[in-house]
Formats: sequence, C-alpha cells, structure tokens
Amino acid sequence: MTWGTLYFYYECENCKKKYKYSFNELSEYRDNFGKCPDCKTEGKLIKDGAITKDDLEYQEI
Ligand SMILES: [Zn+2]
Repeated sequence: MTWGTLYFYYECENCKKKYKYSFNELSEYRDNFGKCPDCKTEGKLIKDGAITKDDLEYQEI
C-alpha cells in the first residue's frame, strides 16, 4: 500500500501567496516549516494530504 507524497497546503495571509510543503521533507525545514517563502510569515494551513487537482496553484517549496 502506498500513500504517495503528502503535502501541507498553505496560503499566506500577508501576501496571498499559495505554497505547499512536502510532508516527506518536514525534518529538513524545521523552524521554517509552514512559513511563506516570500515574506516569512507563518502561513494559514488550508489542507493537508495527497495531491489534489488544484495542486498547481500552490508553489512547491
Ligand atoms: Zn507571504
């Protein structure tokens, strides 16, 4: 049984950027996990799980 890659999807409330973090690389990001790549603000978690059809709206970090 395989789950594929899981992602955490975020939207930045500061600059409205949409982005996602791979669950598989969670340990690499440590304190930066969930933060906006542009303005470093803590993002709002939209959803998590397997890739969804609106995946392309979210930039992979
Ligand atoms: Zn931002």
